[in-house]
Amino acid sequence: MTLQNKKKETRSVWFLLIGFCILTVLVFALWRIADHRLPVFVGRQLTMEEQQIVVERNSSLIDYVYLTANMDFPRKERIRKITIHHMAGDLTLEDLGASFAKRDRRASANYAIDSRGRVGLYVEESNRAWTSSSEENDQQAITIEVANDEMGGEWHVSDAAYEKLIDLCVDVCKRNGIDRLDYTGDSRGNLTLHKMFSNRTECPGPYLESKMLEIASRVNEQLAAEPEQKRADKNGLTTK
Ligand SMILES: [Zn+2]
Repeated sequence: MTLQNKKKETRSVWFLLIGFCILTVLVFALWRIADHRLPVFVGRQLTMEEQQIVVERNSSLIDYVYLTANMDFPRKERIRKITIHHMAGDLTLEDLGASFAKRDRRASANYAIDSRGRVGLYVEESNRAWTSSSEENDQQAITIEVANDEMGGEWHVSDAAYEKLIDLCVDVCKRNGIDRLDYTGDSRGNLTLHKMFSNRTECPGPYLESKMLEIASRVNEQLAAEPEQKRADKNGLTTK
């Protein structure tokens, strides 16, 4: 190898090294900028006051808040659906929060309900969670993960979790102007399941799936009762 060639080669190595360094700095800078653009309160433990602010603009049923960065904000569509999931486990709300905190897991949900019937919020309703293997669905849906008290089999959920799921559905519908939930067994209805969007999952499991018509009818009963109650209040027919 001539001296000139050797010089040329050394120069190329330096160029490559400098190029690599510049690229690394750029990627790091872009990542920092993207991280800074995250809404306030996301990706960290909140004070009680901060939690209160978040609860006020979501469901009053919330017991625990951890807002994950695994989401898109704001959501692009009006909320018009609810999608039910199961955890495929019996996680506490805190453990699920720690799991959603992992950016490389690329998973989240708006809400979760543990086996004691406590409610956690992970993605505010105004934002789109990464839950159902379908951007189209999740842009329009509030997604809810429910803890299982049976591993495998029917993937049963506790009565406390089930009853709170109904309460949360009613609350989400009322605050978002959803008049009724229709379960059609496929993705055309506005009560949807994860398995409708991916053939790689059985989520939310046979037990919850068997309850969908009942969930829709119990939620709709309560939604239908509400306007009557309001009318009665207005006419002074009920006393507090
Ligand atoms: Zn799911």
